[in-house]
Amino acid sequence: MICSHKGQRGKRGTIPAPVSIGLLALGALLATNPTLAQEIPVPTPRPKFDAPVESVQEPSQTPHSETSVEARMGVPPVIHQIACPALRTGQVRGKLLAPVHDGACGSDSPLQIEAVSEVKLTGEPLSTCAMAEGLAAMSEAAKKAAQDILGTELAAIVTGPGYECRRRNRAATGKLSEHAFANALDIAGFKLADGRQVTVEADWPHLPPAEPLAEPAAEGEEAPTNDEAKPAPASERAATPEAKFLVAVRDAACGIFTTVLSPDSNTAHHAHLHFDLGCHGRDCTYLICE
Ligand SMILES: [Zn+2]
Repeated sequence: MICSHKGQRGKRGTIPAPVSIGLLALGALLATNPTLAQEIPVPTPRPKFDAPVESVQEPSQTPHSETSVEARMGVPPVIHQIACPALRTGQVRGKLLAPVHDGACGSDSPLQIEAVSEVKLTGEPLSTCAMAEGLAAMSEAAKKAAQDILGTELAAIVTGPGYECRRRNRAATGKLSEHAFANALDIAGFKLADGRQVTVEADWPHLPPAEPLAEPAAEGEEAPTNDEAKPAPASERAATPEAKFLVAVRDAACGIFTTVLSPDSNTAHHAHLHFDLGCHGRDCTYLICE
């Protein structure tokens, strides 16, 4: 959400009369009483909210600012980590690693995940506990879909690395990806107990290439659109058991994660499913399921 302060901008640089009189009186008091001046705390300068977001989010190699709270207070930095109950219960197999920080990227309590709900993750991704718990729920749904649709057991899930300090869709500019906070995972496919492998790239019921728009309309005519050629949903396009399995996993994931992107989302996701727990909307309850 972007906050606007337009209403205040025109008043910058002017001090209302009662305030200026008060400041003059305070100045006179301090001049005659230096002890009082030492006791009055100096307010911390406010951050510059007008600074461009990119300058705040730019990854840097500096791990700690010289003016960090710890440095100002003269105490060593505290490494605060959060436990992951799913590791203790066995829902997730893996280990808690030390905090990872790279400029604006990082995670305080990343897990290296070996398996979720007894299903191996081939990439042993680095991710948060909340993501690991979501992946365990997704794994349960995938196991059931493998049995019901493919008639076999799920052996492993083929994943990416999870944490990556980068921007969305690997673009050179723009917002940092949820991968930059270990809050996302990409899944390229599934290995089955009977030796088969289902991949998003080969088995997703991909959309047909978009039809080029008709000739531009002449002045005064209605502009042509491709609205009538809107494709059927993936569940209706899925013709093979493998495609039905992938769509079932995607649909189950939409009830678990806040962002689910499939090849239907855009060409950047033509070969993997992206799951994350990013915040959408004012109270982080808006969901993206594509
Ligand atoms: Zn991703």
